[in-house]
Amino acid sequence: MEHREQLRQLLKDRIAESKASLEREVVDASAVAPDAAIGRLTRMEAMQAGHVTEAARRQRQAELVRLESALQQIDKEDFGMCRECEEAIPLPRLIARPGARLCVACAEAAESR
Ligand SMILES: [Zn+2]
Repeated sequence: MEHREQLRQLLKDRIAESKASLEREVVDASAVAPDAAIGRLTRMEAMQAGHVTEAARRQRQAELVRLESALQQIDKEDFGMCRECEEAIPLPRLIARPGARLCVACAEAAESR
């Protein structure tokens, strides 16, 4: 795969970032849920203080798991190949969704099935 090294570095950076935020953040039951109808400033302040909701933290942990599993797969021959049509998945898609196993067209087809 052409951009393997570039993607590997990117994944490593994002894993490091993700771990750093997980260590920094504390789950605060009083933190404001993203869908709460309150002023934007208040939510921003809560986030800056490193207080996150349980849901936000779970989301970040799931993201970390995805990034790590993508990094483990990166040396495989078929990494970055669509498992449906066997075309190379475009780099921007892999950057956005490192664990993607389908190209955009096949993912859309699968969703509409
Ligand atoms: Zn495909």
